[in-house]
Amino acid sequence: MTIRDMDRRTLLKTGLMSAAAAGAATIANTASAKPAGASEMHFDVVVLGAGCAGLSAALEAADKGAKVALLDKMFGPFGNTIYAGGHFNATNTFVQKRDGLSDTLDEFYKDMMDVSMGRGDPELTRMYVEKSGECIQWLTDRVGIQWKKMHEEPWPATVRGHVVDGPKKPGGAQLTTQLLDAVKASKNITLFFNTKAIELLKTPALACTGVRAVTTKGEVIDFHAKGGVIIATGGFHNNKEMICKYMGGGVAWMPLRGAATLTGENIELTRPFFPQYVNMDQYHSGPIHGPTKANPSLMVNYGIIVNKEAQRIIDEVNTYVYIAKKLPQITPDNWAYIIIDQKVVDVSTVASRIARYKKAKAPIYEGQTIAELAKAMNVPIEALEKTVADYNAAVKSGKSGSLTPPNTLKNAPVLDKGPFLAFPFQGGMTATFGGPKISKKAEVLNTENRPVPGLYAAGNAIGGLFYDDYIVGSQLTAAVIWGRVAGEEAAGRTKR
Ligand SMILES: Cc1cc2nc3c(=O)[nH]c(=O)nc-3n(C[C@H](O)[C@H](O)[C@H](O)COP(=O)(O)OP(=O)(O)OC[C@H]3O[C@@H](n4cnc5c(N)ncnc54)[C@H](O)[C@@H]3O)c2cc1C
Repeated sequence: MTIRDMDRRTLLKTGLMSAAAAGAATIANTASAKPAGASEMHFDVVVLGAGCAGLSAALEAADKGAKVALLDKMFGPFGNTIYAGGHFNATNTFVQKRDGLSDTLDEFYKDMMDVSMGRGDPELTRMYVEKSGECIQWLTDRVGIQWKKMHEEPWPATVRGHVVDGPKKPGGAQLTTQLLDAVKASKNITLFFNTKAIELLKTPALACTGVRAVTTKGEVIDFHAKGGVIIATGGFHNNKEMICKYMGGGVAWMPLRGAATLTGENIELTRPFFPQYVNMDQYHSGPIHGPTKANPSLMVNYGIIVNKEAQRIIDEVNTYVYIAKKLPQITPDNWAYIIIDQKVVDVSTVASRIARYKKAKAPIYEGQTIAELAKAMNVPIEALEKTVADYNAAVKSGKSGSLTPPNTLKNAPVLDKGPFLAFPFQGGMTATFGGPKISKKAEVLNTENRPVPGLYAAGNAIGGLFYDDYIVGSQLTAAVIWGRVAGEEAAGRTKR
């Protein structure tokens, strides 16, 4: 048949076929050249990072029949998951039903969007809300996670705080142990610890075909992935260069609250694929005693917050996230104290944080009187006495909202029962919120909003879902949801 004989459709079809054939040849022939001495391995799916997202992704892909390689640069899971409190923010769950709590998807969606100032990706947020119940069910059925009794909490957590139960503390360590046990029990997953991903393998047409990694023994291994590579390497909170670039130098001085292993591979590895990086200036913060890693968390709302001059510096009604983010701006050295009195030491939120300070051997200053406390803290005695006296008088007369700065807590505590306690803390960096934007199928999207073939991301590695703040427990839930979605999608692509 000559070209003239062909009809348009045939011509088009033939053209497309030969283009596809050429493409296939290209794919087979042009993956990055293997360095001399490197070995090669072939899997269906390669997962990078053994945190909550990576472990969930590996399990799901394996359960869908894929042969999976799970790589982590450390000798075990060493990301933020092991530091996590173990809160999962979810709704429409059997745990809520068990504990007599109810909620609606629409209320949940609204609260999620409110805490992200309306800037959380609406599609992903809606999917998060809808899939959160399934996430709790899967963790229970597949991983054997058990849940503490739930309580109604102040907005925005309300009735959605599912907390991992078990002997290991914090709950994130319990979660990691159980996820890792399930992964080790799967015959479809091979674990490669001490194996660091350094480069993604790709075709000239920018499809991801695998990953090059180096081991601590100095081996170079090319892991080829038929279905895809899943980036679950967390964010970049311990990459000072990136923090300076995207958030400013002041933020780079904040002590870390979580893992030191999160150094921006979600950005560095994916960059050759031209991903759409979003929310790169956004991060989560929280109070921390940097030198010992003692974490006062919600305790900062149970007393007054003063600087080294013994002056109150912020409305104590604010969330711990807001307070921690503000601290480097409103103090010269990012240090402040939370001062409480005896009336609140047995409140469970406070008691657990005092226990953490003691366990970490972080300083707790104590005084029978405010003057004694000031002496122990090494702050000006008269100034602290005046600060506390002015504050107490304002609270008692219902005028604490007129203080400078105001205290707008509904039931602001009067500080009148010694011994008084002071806990030094700093604003700390918990995690970054920026990274490649993903589709609902966990595909990394490029700058034209098209999925990069073979490249998926989940957990703290992605951008788009969180902005400014989040409801406690949202990150773990999101990591499991999109970890599993990525696992399923990459496993499915193996067969296509
Ligand atoms: C103190 C603290 C408390 C928290 N509490 C909660 C909570 O209660 N609820 C909640 O929802 N969220 C919480 N978070 C946030 C939550 O822990 C994280 O969002 C979540 O664990 C992220 O999981 P991940 O799997 O994405 O990453 P991670 O758990 O951080 O794991 C990333 C892994 O990738 C590995 N890795 C990195 N680079 C490479 C590479 N090049 N090659 C191979 N491996 C690599 C790392 O070693 C690490 O093991 C908390 C965080 C902190 C710090």
